[in-house]
Amino acid sequence: MRQTKRKCPQCKHEVDEISSAVDTGKIVAPNPGDITMCLYCGLLEQFTDTTLDRRVLSGDDINALPPKLREQLAWYEIARLQALKNRSQGA
Ligand SMILES: [Zn+2]
Repeated sequence: MRQTKRKCPQCKHEVDEISSAVDTGKIVAPNPGDITMCLYCGLLEQFTDTTLDRRVLSGDDINALPPKLREQLAWYEIARLQALKNRSQGA
């Protein structure tokens, strides 16, 4: 899903697209409450409404997420770090 270009509030990389972690083959708009991760720095944000506004999740916010979701986010973080490592090694 394309969005207006915006900079990650943490790493300042410019991003212009949102992808679902679950490949359904369909373009899916995020719902309020959905979590998004910056693939450059791992920053977690939560969509606050249907206009793609979002807020940065604090450590307390993350700790308050359901355990299964925290586990899923941890796996995404591991995959993100592995992809960055592979990229830096030219794999
Ligand atoms: Zn970032």
